[in-house]
Amino acid sequence: MILEEYMSKRDFTKTSEPEPEIKEAGKNLIYVIQKHQARNLHWDLRLEREGVLKSWAVPKEPPAREGVKRLAVAVEDHPIGYASFEGTIPEGEYGAGTVEIWDKGSYTSEKWKENEIIIDIQGEKLNGKYVLIKTRFKGSKNSWLLFKKKSK
Ligand code: MN
Repeated sequence: MILEEYMSKRDFTKTSEPEPEIKEAGKNLIYVIQKHQARNLHWDLRLEREGVLKSWAVPKEPPAREGVKRLAVAVEDHPIGYASFEGTIPEGEYGAGTVEIWDKGSYTSEKWKENEIIIDIQGEKLNGKYVLIKTRFKGSKNSWLLFKKKSK
């Protein structure tokens, strides 16, 4: 079952976050970054892919310009409806804190491999080609680096 991990962490009678729903794959792929003031402030990058939102938690503000690399920790897939979620996750629930949309738009995928993703983001804050590369930061299997691709 898809989104199993997402569902197992949440009690939908207590949180207003969206329950899973499957959307047909369309042409306009969703790109969104949510600023999440949880125990630790982070930015959640989400990219629509195969009917779900592939998700990474970025501990520092995602870079609008070249030359800055950010750690991005892959987390569980989220339902498409999460892209428009803003609000407060109650105390005691997973990810408790406030969620606001920091940037949104669409993206196209140039390369999507197990260890490397290249995307063209059309957002308001982020624009242009971005790279996600798997790394072995502190031995973690979920660590990626996110950075804006050099234009030349
Ligand atoms: Mn989060």
